[in-house]
Amino acid sequence: MMLTRERPSAIRTLRGWAISLLQEAGAIRECDEHGWMQDRADPHARERAVAMARRDPPPGVSPDAAAAEVRDVLDSIGDTCPECPPL
Ligand SMILES: [Zn+2]
Repeated sequence: MMLTRERPSAIRTLRGWAISLLQEAGAIRECDEHGWMQDRADPHARERAVAMARRDPPPGVSPDAAAAEVRDVLDSIGDTCPECPPL
């Protein structure tokens, strides 16, 4: 039985790459209910994500451009899910 699946297309773009790296570093997380990305406001996780981006940028992308994209994505993500009721 074939269980292989294609990876989601997110990784194809630099932004998608940055989002998955930020998730991996624990800097952002996905709302369980709605799927929106949320900034976890964890400075250590942010630093880790930027360091990971510099160390291992996607093919054809410079370390500086990769780190800048990670920061850009962080700036664009809010710290709450827009669909979750406020506490
Ligand atoms: Zn939500």
